[in-house]
Amino acid sequence: MVPEVLMNQLIRCKNCDEIFMRTPFDQHPEYTLDSGRPLGTFRTVETDDYQEFLTQHQGHQLENLEIVEDSLVTEKAYSEPVKTSFFRATNGKEKFVIKKFREKIEEPLKYLLLPGDYSLKCAAIKVQSEEISKQLRRELNPPPSQNQIDAFLKLCYTIAENIEVNDLERVPEESLHPLEIYYKIDDIHLMYLLRNCRRIFTGKEYSSVEEFIHRHKDDGVLLLKATYKIRLVEKVKPDKKFIPASLPFKKVKIVGGK
Ligand SMILES: [Zn+2]
Repeated sequence: MVPEVLMNQLIRCKNCDEIFMRTPFDQHPEYTLDSGRPLGTFRTVETDDYQEFLTQHQGHQLENLEIVEDSLVTEKAYSEPVKTSFFRATNGKEKFVIKKFREKIEEPLKYLLLPGDYSLKCAAIKVQSEEISKQLRRELNPPPSQNQIDAFLKLCYTIAENIEVNDLERVPEESLHPLEIYYKIDDIHLMYLLRNCRRIFTGKEYSSVEEFIHRHKDDGVLLLKATYKIRLVEKVKPDKKFIPASLPFKKVKIVGGK
């Protein structure tokens, strides 16, 4: 009998480098009704899959892997059912990257063990130009001219081009996409924006732009939107005779029990 598993359990076959993930999230009530038996007799598909894995790897060396906390990265919006994610796992000595994916919406999740590592690379920093234009027109009195809006946006673009995303404070904005992150413009670049706005707006106009900037810098339209890409660095599996090279993994808290 297979014991009931309450926690995530990631099992690796050391011989085949194949894995099996047992997780409460995967154990959705996917029961099949055996037509030859009386109503109410069910069997779980998940358990059968696990049995199949055990049968397939009979006599092989199996080990438990622990999932590295907070290591999950996903390439598409949370709402997207067909997507690929990656996370890290370890057996205490070696580190692994697990690819979690499904090809079709009706398929169960698949897990694949990959040698190597992944990192997140900032692909672009975007100015929320449409939102800024709209809010400038709505909030400034008198409304700014198109030339003034264009000049203001040009300053924002210059900031986005020259800013270092690693130096910025991340905003816990509810992004619908896991790889889109909002950042506040730092004080130095805010000063640059304010200073240069003096050449675009004068007198009372400038005062209202100054207020606009202060109103929108922390959680408004002036936030910069950074888009990240998952960069997978696959490593050719070393020959078993050689000691596997240690990967440049960051020291992280490990979660999961035995
Ligand atoms: Zn095996």
